[in-house]
Amino acid sequence: MKNVAVIGSTGSIGTQTLEIARANDDLNVVALAAGRNTKLLEAQAREFRPEIIGIWSEEDARGLRISLADTDIKVVSGMEGLIEIAELGSSDIVVTGIVGMIGIRPTIAAINAGKDIALANKETLVTAGHIIMPLAKEKGVSILPVDSEHSAIFQSLQGNVHGDVAKILLTASGGPFRGKDTEFLSHMKVEDALKHPNWSMGRKITIDSATMVNKGLEVIEAKWLFDVEPENIQVVVQPQSIIHSMVEYRDGAVIAQLGTPDMKLPIQYALFYPERRFLAGDRLDFWAMNSILIEKPDMDVFKGLKYAYSAIADGGSMPTVFNAANECAVARFLDRKIEFLDIYKIIEECMASHTVIPDPDVPQILDTEKWVYDFVESRW
Ligand code: NDP
Repeated sequence: MKNVAVIGSTGSIGTQTLEIARANDDLNVVALAAGRNTKLLEAQAREFRPEIIGIWSEEDARGLRISLADTDIKVVSGMEGLIEIAELGSSDIVVTGIVGMIGIRPTIAAINAGKDIALANKETLVTAGHIIMPLAKEKGVSILPVDSEHSAIFQSLQGNVHGDVAKILLTASGGPFRGKDTEFLSHMKVEDALKHPNWSMGRKITIDSATMVNKGLEVIEAKWLFDVEPENIQVVVQPQSIIHSMVEYRDGAVIAQLGTPDMKLPIQYALFYPERRFLAGDRLDFWAMNSILIEKPDMDVFKGLKYAYSAIADGGSMPTVFNAANECAVARFLDRKIEFLDIYKIIEECMASHTVIPDPDVPQILDTEKWVYDFVESRW
């Protein structure tokens, strides 16, 4: 029996994790945490009977304590609640399916408590990779990637040694606006940007795919997960999302992981690694495929990627600025307060106005996030 805590259980990653738990009797859900969706969280709590659940606001927690009074499930709230869930004695692995930098402290708490991490929350590694990766090593815990590209790289690395890796080929679908120019992007609205061609994901990451900020975040995530320098991480557009990513070795061999676009595969692989289990769903049909398309990313139009490489080069607190500025910008775009291209303007302005803090600790990372939020609030 493997005991799992799911942080962000009501989201896209969280609900798919619970689908896997439904299909595998030896995966026991011991904790759940969500932001605001009390209705779904209550339904999940009744179905999976965890020891503890967390909801962000104390007011919502009070409501859940009343509605779940017929059970012995403990209900907690806020950051303290998230940390209590992350550290829960009975869990073996924590799925970080929460969105945003709010995932940093629970992830660190879980590692300190000796839990393996099935990591979806890329913002944590982007901003605090220099803290998380050495800490995981020190505590002897595994950071198992859930992001499909990073899972593909992880799968392509199995059985090989780190020193033989020449480069990582990180694939991108190109998002809904692939091949379009800046003029076209200037007219794009929220509903256009939310139409991802291949993947069904949460709203924030879907917008990040349209701007290619998501791919930028993934380059930084890959650097930390696989200890590869950014110049050895090459982004390759593969519009059908069939090749999920590849690794090139020093003898020229390229090893890839392919499959249909289904997040349950990487989630399940992280949960049961190194075991592979049956997973229901479509299989690749090679006879139905005419070709596998490959394109070069257009970093002049989709500036998200360019900013990410620049943020890694600056290092220190700059990836936090890149990420936090994007979080602010995407929230404003989703609220229809700014235009699509303003997302790039906000990121660029924030990065240009920031003085890098080298090797920031967690309070400095959170202060940098606050500085970005205040800066954006004062201008946009
Ligand atoms: P969603 O928006 O679908 O879900 C986010 C989850 O986080 C929800 O359960 C939400 O709860 C919860 N949450 C938000 N704020 C809080 C909070 N303050 N306290 C506790 N829980 C909170 O996002 P995704 O599932 O798409 O993405 C999650 C992470 O995984 C992101 O970092 C994303 O980049 C990454 N990722 C996602 C992929 C995907 O396919 N979706 C693929 C690869 C990576 P509620 O809904 O109740 O407010």
